[in-house]
Amino acid sequence: MAAQPRRNSVVVNVGTVRVGGANPVVVQSMTNTDTADVTATASQVMALANAGSELVRITVNSEQAAAAVPKIVDTLKLHGVDVPIIGDFHYNGHLLLRKYPACARALAKYRINPGNVNIGRKHDENFRIMIEAAIEYGKPVRIGVNWGSLDSALLTRMMDENARLAEPLDARAVMMNAIVESGILAAEAAERYGLGHDKIILSAKVSGVQDLITVNRALAARCDYPLHLGLTEAGMGAKGIVASTAGISILLQEGIGDTIRASLTPMPNGDRSEEVRVCQQILQSLELRSFTPQVTACPGCGRTTSTFFQEMADQIQTYLRERMPEWRERYAGVETMKVAVMGCIVNGPGESKHSDIGISLPGTFEEPVAPVYVDGKLATTLRGDHIVAEFIGILNGYVERHYAATAAAAK
Ligand code: SF4
Repeated sequence: MAAQPRRNSVVVNVGTVRVGGANPVVVQSMTNTDTADVTATASQVMALANAGSELVRITVNSEQAAAAVPKIVDTLKLHGVDVPIIGDFHYNGHLLLRKYPACARALAKYRINPGNVNIGRKHDENFRIMIEAAIEYGKPVRIGVNWGSLDSALLTRMMDENARLAEPLDARAVMMNAIVESGILAAEAAERYGLGHDKIILSAKVSGVQDLITVNRALAARCDYPLHLGLTEAGMGAKGIVASTAGISILLQEGIGDTIRASLTPMPNGDRSEEVRVCQQILQSLELRSFTPQVTACPGCGRTTSTFFQEMADQIQTYLRERMPEWRERYAGVETMKVAVMGCIVNGPGESKHSDIGISLPGTFEEPVAPVYVDGKLATTLRGDHIVAEFIGILNGYVERHYAATAAAAK
């Protein structure tokens, strides 16, 4: 079953990227460098952008960070990287945006946390100042509610009101309602201050999958602002990837969500770009977008007693990923290619036939040959010590024959 039609949100332009409406779901990420360190931050932004992040957020938490923002954007331009940069503000955004106009101008969007700008209180000047900066510089904002920094006054009021009900909700339900309410109230306030309806993206981040689904379904029912999805602290390794995938996928399948992030905690010195690849894989697995050729590999079993086929699947996946920056330019549609690397004759030929190009390696006790299928038909049979290199040669020929023609026709 295909994903349900996308919810009809308004379109918000974030620099050159269009978010919402019928536009493809946008992948975004965030740096973890000290923003004041221009070289380190620009370098990580470039790595994230090269991995496919279409928006990159950086924290702007100090005067040094605000002063660095235009230098970071200039450095990126010098390197030909034009990914929109989003400033993440907490507590002092009103001061920084006013004191550092070059920062306000250089950013493509401001992320505002309504839980720490006094929104809704008598003196919500801080929030108003940030919205006025967005209006002055023509920038959109993301109003990003986070349950770890939820507006405590709003939550207290809603808890008190709930307690007076004949049948009060449990505390967790009230908190979910408060998260949604916080986002909606802040967006309404922003519009009252003059920000355009098409300049607002909303997000409501929590750390549990069920809560993420609950709050975003509620937000989707209440408004037509584009929604940014993601767990606030997904965690490390398999836990972070699975939790992010579960929550984001269920919502996307329901047509909810216009931009996503997987907030993974990297291993020490780990690759920050992993969060970008996870988002791309979510979208490609749901058949919402295509980024890179997909390798179907069987898990292996007692019929594959050597690691040869696992190594081959890994080598081919790595090869495809490494070639994609060049292939993307030269071969239109190559990202939709399907490649199968299978461990034995049981499912190998069948799965290979369902792919554009596939190889079925010999399992234990099978004849040491590897049939290769191209477009569903047996093309050749490889044997000997150079199966990987020969298969990659066949793969290259397939790409050249099929997608160079597509690229030429598209011109
Ligand atoms: S295709 Fe063969 S090796 Fe792979 S899991 Fe199935 S039976 Fe095992």
